[in-house]
Amino acid sequence: MKKNRDQELRRIIQYSFLGITMIVVVLLINGVLCSAHGFCPYSSICFGVMRLNPGFTILLYPIAVIIGLLIAVTSIFWGRRFCGYICPFGTVQEMVFNLNPRSRKNMQLHLPVWLHKLLNSFKYVIMLITIVAAFRSMQYVYMKYCPVLAVSHPQNITIYSAAILFIIFIVGYFINRFWCRYLCPYAALMNVFQYMGKLFHIPSKRIHVCEEQCINCKLCTKNCPMQIDIYERKRVDDANCIFCLKCQQCCPIDSGLEIKSSKKNK
Ligand code: SF4
Ligand code: SF4
Ligand code: SF4
Repeated sequence: MKKNRDQELRRIIQYSFLGITMIVVVLLINGVLCSAHGFCPYSSICFGVMRLNPGFTILLYPIAVIIGLLIAVTSIFWGRRFCGYICPFGTVQEMVFNLNPRSRKNMQLHLPVWLHKLLNSFKYVIMLITIVAAFRSMQYVYMKYCPVLAVSHPQNITIYSAAILFIIFIVGYFINRFWCRYLCPYAALMNVFQYMGKLFHIPSKRIHVCEEQCINCKLCTKNCPMQIDIYERKRVDDANCIFCLKCQQCCPIDSGLEIKSSKKNK
């Protein structure tokens, strides 16, 4: 079946990038590579913003800047596919949640809507604090909390980054992609780019419910790791969709959900 093949392909891509990341982490821990900032897409934002301040000189990491900006800008057209296919932290969180028996029953733990909406705003606040703090050269504050740094430089782990690893590995066992849903500042940045794309009516591919085929079972909504109410919305224009295609996979109807251009449906 096509939807199972799509899911297998996604897994292969996810595990390939996770494998590459693990090699980089081992090289960082052994001191062969010197800094995780050179590979982390979000470091380009923090360091780039610091660089904008004329009173502050700092070396930029060219690979990180190119990758970071490329991912953020392409999210205008492709949404958060980076999260669903590439980001190793997303993959690890899915693996952790897969250990939970709920995942085998295909049931995500969804929070009350008011709490979900409140927590959803946290990642924007974290992004803003990071950018403002970096520009004012107070310091690269996010470094204290960064899970990338905690994993790749365990000798420099702080109580804050340990708390974030706790969120990813322990909270993530109960609530799939808790970090991605509510706290990741890079997700907030990608969402901002998507909102800008919408503002300029740039078409992007989105998931749609085929209303003629739908049997109203709501399995799509119950299985969404990002707590998006797909059934009610009919068209997933939520910037938080990570294109994991879980909704499509669990739909009992073969063509109950389709990916179409946002323009075509208007
Ligand atoms: S939300 Fe952040 S941590 Fe999660 S997959 Fe996306 S970039 Fe990675
Ligand atoms: S899972 Fe498929 S059939 Fe069920 S509500 Fe969603 S779109 Fe409709
Ligand atoms: S709407 Fe579908 S593709 Fe998007 S995050 Fe939810 S389950 Fe994944």
